[in-house]
Amino acid sequence: MQSFGFIGLGIMGSAMAKNLLMAGFQVTIWNRDQAKCGELLSLGARRGESPRQVIEACPVTFAMLSDPAAAEEVCFAEKGVLAGIGAGKGYVDMSTVDAATSQRIGAAITTAGGRFLEAPVSGSRKPAEEGSLVILAAGDRGLFDDAMPAFEKMGKKHLFLGEVGNGANMKLVVNMVMGGMMAVFCEGLALASKAGLTPPDLLEVIDSGAIANPLFRMKGGSILNNNFSVAFPLKHMQKDLRLAVSLGDQAGQPLFSAAAANEAFKRAKEMGFGDEDFSAVFKAISR
Ligand code: NAP
Repeated sequence: MQSFGFIGLGIMGSAMAKNLLMAGFQVTIWNRDQAKCGELLSLGARRGESPRQVIEACPVTFAMLSDPAAAEEVCFAEKGVLAGIGAGKGYVDMSTVDAATSQRIGAAITTAGGRFLEAPVSGSRKPAEEGSLVILAAGDRGLFDDAMPAFEKMGKKHLFLGEVGNGANMKLVVNMVMGGMMAVFCEGLALASKAGLTPPDLLEVIDSGAIANPLFRMKGGSILNNNFSVAFPLKHMQKDLRLAVSLGDQAGQPLFSAAAANEAFKRAKEMGFGDEDFSAVFKAISR
């Protein structure tokens, strides 16, 4: 039986690791908050006492962590990933982080004799549950091939984008577009309302034309129903916009709309909506 490690069992990681277990792989797990391990342990997962132990127990380990600080802590902590890396061990970080963070982690892993792949994903809670994520991998090509049996259970599309940093940057650009779309969509809903229009009519008009898309279709109804139950936490969307704006800085690319969207998400976070779905930016916009 093939064996994989999985570190980080939040919204995404718990669903992804469950798919690996359901596919019949042996899975060794670790999460900072141990309470989140319960369901997977009851389904047959093995518990690692630390990231280090997971890495030591498995030839290939995946991680799905919230942000650059979490990714670095799990890698570099005393009982972290790096402490367990040995020759040929594979570490696949699927968290959304900036390229520099990914490159720092990758360099440390490879210097210690391990193999590194970044593999952030496009798709949210439901695609994670259904195993239909889009996986944006870059780094060690051999590790990409070795991880493929697991990728096939987690995603419907698996891209190899070259050197470490390309996957991170691709993910940030995609989420920057999504954050901008969400912000202006919420402005449209708020404006329609204040202009005396009926917001469901606006949803119907949008859905009937060239700007119809699954995101607006999915989120429009729930926003109007005041349902912000979390699929993609707003705090993570703001993190992605912040990192994308910084990437724009480094690349010399002005990001007029994305920078404005970032401000809207920052405001929503300050207002206490960080743990709600990212569509809760509507509540900051529609005041
Ligand atoms: P989440 O539910 O907030 O889970 C975050 C995970 O990171 C949890 O396991 C958390 O552990 C762990 N973590 C945070 N800080 C840590 C630290 N200092 N040390 C160790 N572990 C730490 O987030 P998510 O929605 O699953 O997202 C995970 C990643 O995927 C993020 O980078 C996000 O941007 C990206 N992503 C999310 C979605 C989505 O729709 N949700 C879609 C695509 C990509 P605890 O449980 O102990 O807090």
